[in-house]
Amino acid sequence: MNTPFSAVMQITKRSNIVYTQGKGSWLWDDKGKKYLDFIQGWAVNTLGHCPDEISKVLLEQSTRLINASPAFYNEPMVKCANTLVNYSVFDQVFFANSGAEANEGAIKLARKWGQNKKSGAWKIITFDKSFHGRTLTTMAASGKAAFESLFEPKTEGFIKVHFNDIDAVEKAIDDSVVAIMLEPIQGEAGVIPATPQFITALRKLADKHQILLIFDEIQTGIARTGHLFSYEGYHVAPDIMTLAKGLGGGVPIAALLAKEHCCVFEYGDQGGTFNGNPLMTAVAHVIIEKVAKPSFLKNIKRTSRLLLTGLEKLSKQYDLGKVRGKGLLLALDTASINANKIVQKALEQGLIINAPNENTLRFMPALTVSASEIKEMLQILSNVLSSFFVFSE
Ligand code: PLP
Repeated sequence: MNTPFSAVMQITKRSNIVYTQGKGSWLWDDKGKKYLDFIQGWAVNTLGHCPDEISKVLLEQSTRLINASPAFYNEPMVKCANTLVNYSVFDQVFFANSGAEANEGAIKLARKWGQNKKSGAWKIITFDKSFHGRTLTTMAASGKAAFESLFEPKTEGFIKVHFNDIDAVEKAIDDSVVAIMLEPIQGEAGVIPATPQFITALRKLADKHQILLIFDEIQTGIARTGHLFSYEGYHVAPDIMTLAKGLGGGVPIAALLAKEHCCVFEYGDQGGTFNGNPLMTAVAHVIIEKVAKPSFLKNIKRTSRLLLTGLEKLSKQYDLGKVRGKGLLLALDTASINANKIVQKALEQGLIINAPNENTLRFMPALTVSASEIKEMLQILSNVLSSFFVFSE
């Protein structure tokens, strides 16, 4: 049967809700129902829905210049690249349109570096349960079990090892290996942080074997963890980093950042019609300048603590599992309750949360979420959880 949704390619199970408006932590559907949004476009809407800063810069930039072609510099592209370089340990930036595209670029850059500087080494060590995107190559790089049988034959050259297992990484290194690539917190796997010891040891191993360390900070970058980039919290500098999601605060932009010694692309190796687009880079520049402020980062630590302690309280009250994560990327293990069922019931009660797997709830609110919105979220979640404990006589 044809429905208004039939023309939309079916790539995921969607509810029939149609959202029409958003502001801050709130969304409204076409029936006027209001929802408290704790996923924010999948950790994308850094400043919440429709922040005035983004509306203003989009309007201003759209009256000045929307696209000058990637073959030319434009003002916002240059400004945004310089801002990212100034706030990070990296020297150069390539702008892309999605996280997968930025990661694909990182893989290409590492392989080129291997060709030029490491006798053709090309393999990359990645991790079980990791997620790096949905292009053919980033699916091959990912350690997601569901991808294993899809779209054969896969891009070759990814060696998967257990996360947080430094011995497994060391064992996997040989002359064909050019890089280690990881998410500092595995987001789609259920918010699994790399331990500080693991990250420190990875840097040492990479130095010892003269291979590259690549951080996929697509979910963890742009203040999500309370640091502008999560590598800062580990006191370790990667050679290459990718950003997306929060960088655009809701508009599509991604970035590949690299230290000078690995900026080895030659003309023609990398490109894309929309890269460095002025409309998107103008927005990204506003976002970075806003979230890099010490007061903004300090506030994330405060709201993170509120959310974390609230979730721990619920966990105790309902006999659930661990709370983990950093900043405003937190997860709660749901023990015997199916997390997807919690998500469904929460949605009915006007709360949007996510279950990356059947046993985990993930929370990734706007970085501007208020204390009262956290309190309201915890109250709705508590109501939902209590409904699983109502037994009939
Ligand atoms: N890498 C990580 C860590 C991600 O979380 C995601 C998206 O969820 C991606 C890569 C892919 O990004 P995109 O969906 O923008 O292609």
